[in-house]
Formats: sequence, C-alpha cells, structure tokens
Amino acid sequence: MSMSIPIFSNGNESVVYNPDELIDLFLNCTADGFAIIDMEYRFIRINPVYTQIFGYTEEDVIGRRFDEFPHSDLVKEIIEEVKQGKSFTNMITQCFHKDGTALDISVTYSPFRNSNGEIIAIIAIYHDITHMVLMEKELKRTRELYKLITENTADMIKVYSKNYDILYASPSHKQRIGYTPDQLVGSNIFDLVVPEEMEDFKKMFQKIEETGESQVFQVKMKTSTNEIIHSETNISPIFNEKKEVESYVTVGRDITERVNNDAAFRNLDRLSIIGQLAAGVAHEIRNPLTSLKGFSKLLKTTAMKEKQDQYLSIIMNELDRIDMIANEFMSLAKPQAIHFEREQLIFILDSTINILHPQALLHGVEIKLNFPTDNVKIICSPHQLKQVFVNFLKNAIEAMPKGGTVHIKVEKVECNRVIISFADEGVGIEQERLNYLGTPFYTTKDKGIGLGLTVSNKIIQEHRGMMKIESQIGVGTTVTIELDCL
Ligand code: ADP
Ligand code: MG
Repeated sequence: MSMSIPIFSNGNESVVYNPDELIDLFLNCTADGFAIIDMEYRFIRINPVYTQIFGYTEEDVIGRRFDEFPHSDLVKEIIEEVKQGKSFTNMITQCFHKDGTALDISVTYSPFRNSNGEIIAIIAIYHDITHMVLMEKELKRTRELYKLITENTADMIKVYSKNYDILYASPSHKQRIGYTPDQLVGSNIFDLVVPEEMEDFKKMFQKIEETGESQVFQVKMKTSTNEIIHSETNISPIFNEKKEVESYVTVGRDITERVNNDAAFRNLDRLSIIGQLAAGVAHEIRNPLTSLKGFSKLLKTTAMKEKQDQYLSIIMNELDRIDMIANEFMSLAKPQAIHFEREQLIFILDSTINILHPQALLHGVEIKLNFPTDNVKIICSPHQLKQVFVNFLKNAIEAMPKGGTVHIKVEKVECNRVIISFADEGVGIEQERLNYLGTPFYTTKDKGIGLGLTVSNKIIQEHRGMMKIESQIGVGTTVTIELDCL
C-alpha cells in the first residue's frame, strides 16, 4: 500500500506524487549512478546513469550478485561493514566498465534502513571521475615535463617581476654565467647587463609594455668572473587579469660563439676584398707615379718660375690622388670597431666608388650614381655599410667581364626610409641559384670565397634594413636595400 504526499505547490492546487514514482523520478534525473543491493548482495535497482558509467543494463545485473562481476577485494570488505551500519563517502576506487576498461570512480556506500531502523539494503552512489583523474595526471605530467625542460636545458630561463627582480632562474645559469639560481633569485636583472647596453635594454621593456608583445633581443651579459657573453633573449610579458604586465619570462641563449663566428666571417670577407682589390689599387697608383716622375724631371730642367708652378700644381694633384686611393684602401684594410653614428649616405657611397674605381677602370665598367638633391643622413656603422656597398659593386663589376655600366640609385621614400639599388648589366643569376645566395661560402667564381652576400645581409639586418636581389639571365642583376634614414 502506498500513500501520496503533496510536495510542490502549483498555483492554488497542490501537485500530488506517489513516493514510488518520486524515487523513479529521482533515480532517472540524478547525475550520479545509483545501485541498490539487497542483503544477499543481489542488485535490486540501478538507474540509467549507472548504465551510462558501467555499460551494464538492468537485464545484465538485476537479480545477480555483485561478486559475479569484476570488482576489487576492498569492495567486499566495505560492503560487509555497510551491512553493519557504517557509511563510506566519496571513496576513490577503480572499477571496470562492461567492456573491461578501468574507470576511476568516486563512490559513496550507505546502509538503507526500513522504518524500524533495520538495514534492508545497501545504496551505492557512483561518480565517474576518470576524466578528472586523467586531467590531473596530464597536468602533473606537463608540470614535470616543464620542470625537466627548465632544469636541463642549456638555455637560460628566468622569470622576473615587473620591477625586474629575478623570481626564478634555471640551473643552466651556473654553466653559462657562473651564478647559481640561489645567487640570482632576488637580484635585479639589470645587474647582469653591461652598462653600455642598459639604455637599449630599458627601451626594449618600454616596447614590450607598449605593444604587449614578446621581443627578441641581443644583449651582452656579465659573468661572475666579469667576462662578457652575448645572449639572444626572448622576453615575454605575463599579464594579470587587468591586462597589466605582472612578470616576464625570458629564455636566453648564449650566442657568443656565433657572434665570434660572425666577426670572423666579416674579417675574412674584408681581407678577401682587400686581396682582390690590391692589384687594381697598385695599378691605379702606378699611373700617377709615372707622371710624378716625368714632371719631377721637367721641374729640375726648367728655370722658368711660371712653368715650375704649373708642374708643381700637377704634382700636388697627383699626390692628392695617390693619398686618396691609399687612404680609402687603408680604411677598408684596418679592422674597425662597430659603432653606430650619424653619417651622410653620400659620403659612404662616394668613398665606396673611389675604392672600386681602379677595379672598374680595369674592367671597362662605368659607375653612375643617381643621388637625390637633398641630403640623406642615416644612423649606421659607416665602415660596415661601406663593406656592404663594396661587396655589391665588386659583384656587379665581376658580373660584367666585357664591361658595362652599374647604376646606383638612391631614393628617399615616405616614413623616413631610403632605397639604394645597385643595377648591373651583367650575366645575371638563374632563378634556382637565387635561393643559394647568402649561404656562407657559396660562390661561382674561381677566386671568390662566397662570404660577400652573407656578411652584407647580416650587416643590413643589424641596421634594421632589408635586402633583395632580382636578376634576369643575360640582362643583369639588381640588388636593392632599404634602410631607415633621418
Ligand atoms: P663571391 O663574390 O665571393 O662569389 P658573394 O657572396 O659576393 O661571393 O656572391 C655569391 C655568388 O652570388 C657569386 O659567386 C655569384 O654567383 C652570385 N652573384 C652575386 N652578385 C651577383 C651579380 N651582381 N651578378 C651575378 N651574380 C652575382
Ligand atoms: Mg662578392
């Protein structure tokens, strides 16, 4: 016999439910799996979520004993205790799906009593946490992986606060700069940077804050023994909920060897240019020397003041010319420290043309310069840029064994950029070979060493410029660079 009880009021009328129906409703709606087992361990009731979790339907289990199904020994002990009146809540156990897969389940067992307080059944409520456990495992695994990476990488990984105080430093710092993580944590990142780079380093942080984007930056760092290493560092900002920078993560790589290699390449390129230009320069100096000899003899034999003055002025002119050629050549030959200054582009170009003039004469090449009327000033390392221009002009001359013209064109474009192009009428470069240009030691010449374009490209990059080579077989090649100007 069952009685009906009113539960929820619906307007004026009360909705009346039968308790059996209510249990059905409850079991069908709840998000957890339910099973009721009688005192002989037989299933007397399961709900749809139980079937969803374990795959077993009512036909599979009702009337059968739970120990006919795979289960852990622990379950049997627990159920024994529940039969004595004990409850177990949210126990994490491993259960099995009908298809055999293991499931992580949080389960609650409680005794089910009748109105006399006697235990007549056992209720089990199951919550599938397989996914959660998996996620936790995954999280742990990723954490361990990250730890493994940061602790073992050769890169220097640091985290620092927005005030640039170091919060974390990877053990690799010991090997690279001689400080242990303990020595670094708490100190300021600026303590590690060489003084002359401080200003640029600060500017880079300003840029990160303005743009919110990570930056790659080359910086010189001091080691514990006051040596200097070159580090290429990627600095990424970490934001708080208010989208303000809260801290920074940096990954720095010791590129000292690469920087030294670069310097060696540059020197090699410079020395090869000097070697290859020497013959032309010697030739160019011999011409004025011949006339110097001749006029000196004439000077000795003439007593006329007017003639003497005329000869002396010719001699002076020729001496100036020798002086100029020797100076230009020496400026290329002497290794120069790289430092940036404000310089007129026309000076660098004129000087380049002077250096190459003997070579051009020797090969019947004419160099034509088309420069805009207004001055173009650039912030640059003049010696480095000269090395670039010499490389381009030399390549152009070498591409025209039968002579021709090189057109150098300078064009100022909007946004303070200047485009400089070197166009020759030479043999040209096949399309598929264009891809190899810039590879160190790639050359098609007997006496070439194939560093000109590699070094030039690197120098242009350091000037935040761009370089482009276009070519057509039998028509000619144009090398174009774009630079910032004032
Ligand atoms: P190198 O001049 O020592 O060979 P570079 O790096 O200056 O080395 O040039 C590499 C190669 O690119 C050259 O060997 C040549 O094949 C090609 N190249 C460069 N500039 C030109 C040009 N203006 N015309 C035709 N080929 C060129
Ligand atoms: Mg070259």
